[in-house]
Amino acid sequence: MSHIVELLAVGTELLLGNTVNSDAQMLARELSALGLNVYYHSVVGDNPERLSQSVELAKSRADVIITTGGLGPTCDDLTKKVVAQSFGKAMVYHPECADAIRSYFACSGRAMTENNLQQAWLPEGCTVLENRWGTAPGCAFQSGRHFVVMLPGPPRECIPMFKEAAAPWLSQLSEGVICSHTLRIFGWGESQVESLLRDRMNELTNPTLAPYAKEGEMELRITAKAADQAAAEALIAPVEREVRGLLGDLIYGTGEDTLEKVVLEGMKARGLTLGTAESCTGGLIAKRVTDLPGSSAVLRGGVVSYTNEVKTNVLGVSRQLLEEQGAVCAEVARAMAQGARRVLGCDAAVSATGVAGPDRDERGNPVGLVYVALAAPDGCWVRKLNLAGASDRRDRVRIMAANHALDMIRRWLAGLEIERI
Ligand code: ATP
Repeated sequence: MSHIVELLAVGTELLLGNTVNSDAQMLARELSALGLNVYYHSVVGDNPERLSQSVELAKSRADVIITTGGLGPTCDDLTKKVVAQSFGKAMVYHPECADAIRSYFACSGRAMTENNLQQAWLPEGCTVLENRWGTAPGCAFQSGRHFVVMLPGPPRECIPMFKEAAAPWLSQLSEGVICSHTLRIFGWGESQVESLLRDRMNELTNPTLAPYAKEGEMELRITAKAADQAAAEALIAPVEREVRGLLGDLIYGTGEDTLEKVVLEGMKARGLTLGTAESCTGGLIAKRVTDLPGSSAVLRGGVVSYTNEVKTNVLGVSRQLLEEQGAVCAEVARAMAQGARRVLGCDAAVSATGVAGPDRDERGNPVGLVYVALAAPDGCWVRKLNLAGASDRRDRVRIMAANHALDMIRRWLAGLEIERI
């Protein structure tokens, strides 16, 4: 029998839109990895009557109910009380939980109030899920056909507790694993990828093949359900080979890879250094590289050359060129990258100059016109981008421009064509 899971988030702040229900997003992913079917996500405020109704509804349509939130002393332990009542269970005091709460406060140097010890009351006969990340313990119990898990709301407590304590408890229910391989794609939009793969996407059932649009790029996820990991991998492998054959070097990575990670690792592996000269991206390319640990081995520095004076005085871009052609042109992008390479003393440098919007520049160049250049020991390349579709948002123009700059480096590292994709 396959189990139906309902995630029930408790918290008025979620209902009002003040907090995003990220617990549900992360738990749903973890649960499908356990092979459990999540059919319902629901959210209810901190109100005992409505919570009780939500629990009854969940009982009627799911056999695994996972609640998040409402375990803390501020909510008067609303969730545990209401859920215990709904399953006809008394609340029992757990002295070992009270000790754990006392020692949590002692270690963190915070003052404990008596109502913190309320959290040591749990439904009778439950398995206590220890909370090493906060004070409120979680719990899990079975009642007839129902399996119930209660977790605290803060994601930094809820997610590690799920992985460490709730997932092993729930694994008794799972009938297999769901395994996904993600291929990361840059250069084609969702519609292009979809039109190439539409037939296969419709035909395939196990594994499934699904595209997801990300900020300025795309991912393709191949997901298989099987008895164990090895069987799932065996289902995925031929489909992954087929997709790789079709998309070739548009695939820049897998799993948690990002363009900057691929660039950083590629440059590091060859002992190469990088520099940036950024106008419309305002430092975003350098920021994305420096977000990664180990970037100091690769990134020598960056110049945010927003004004023409900085382009000329720091990067050595010709004043005459700027006066004649303006700052947004291929020649200036090229001169910026070459200047950065020289002044920063790096092996390769990228530049970006363009119109991020919301208005055209003083020469009438449209929003979304961006030139991105790469200067390297063996040449200098420029991409002209028309990010018109992205023109409603400055940050989207910047993200796309940074993506292209990083893509040019990764293609240079891989010996691929650089200017066109
Ligand atoms: P604790 O006592 O450890 O704070 P709790 O179970 O009482 O845990 P809540 O009081 O319900 O947790 O929520 C505390 C905070 O956790 C909320 O203000 C919110 O920021 C965050 N939170 C709660 N539920 C969720 C959720 N489903 N997704 C993301 N964040 C959440």
